[in-house]
Amino acid sequence: MDEKGTIWYNIKKTEVGEIFVEIRKIPTSGHVSNCWILFDETSREAAVIDPSADAEEIMRVLAEDSLTLTQIWLTHGHFDHIFAADTLRDKTGAPLMIHRKDAHMLTDAYANASALFFGEGETYREADGQLKGGDALRLGENTVFVRHTPGHTAGSVTLVADTFLFTGDTLFENSIGRSDLPSGDAQVLTDSLRRIVKMPGDYTVCSGHGEITTLEKERTNNPFLKNLFSDSKETTE
Ligand SMILES: [Zn+2]
Ligand SMILES: [Zn+2]
Repeated sequence: MDEKGTIWYNIKKTEVGEIFVEIRKIPTSGHVSNCWILFDETSREAAVIDPSADAEEIMRVLAEDSLTLTQIWLTHGHFDHIFAADTLRDKTGAPLMIHRKDAHMLTDAYANASALFFGEGETYREADGQLKGGDALRLGENTVFVRHTPGHTAGSVTLVADTFLFTGDTLFENSIGRSDLPSGDAQVLTDSLRRIVKMPGDYTVCSGHGEITTLEKERTNNPFLKNLFSDSKETTE
């Protein structure tokens, strides 16, 4: 329990069977984006972060843990993070939230990059609400904070749940997001990464792709973050 009374429980990370706190990572089929479920143990209210797994698989996990889906949060609007956006809304009625600057990506196959990778591309219904930097989202008795961390896309956010960071495609284990897709910006991404890395203390980092890591490991090992900090060194010129 933290000082705000937030209680987090042990849940298994299904993909590799390890024990992690309060989060389930759902294995995906056919693509490799991570889909996370957070839930409040008391109320059994759940939030899906990035509905990138098959809707049936997400529904199966929710049912297995007797969870009611009440929120769908997107770290950003790229197609590989939103496959189940509409099916999941149809099945549960949960509202889907995305940052204002990525909201158009749901309905624009070029903006969500699907048309860049597969012919006609995919579109989805408009979001039901918007995420904003500084927002405090409620999940049962718990609070999840929104940080606007643009650069991979203009509306990329990092969600902060207790000591967990959901960084989407901004920060990965040993890597960082690309900034060459529509609305990406390398300098803006660098600024966002600098703000993330300067968050005091350590966090478990749950990225949009790849393995779970920690902020401290990334501060030490991530070559892209090392370059980032050496750039800010003082010179005598
Ligand atoms: Zn992306
Ligand atoms: Zn991605």
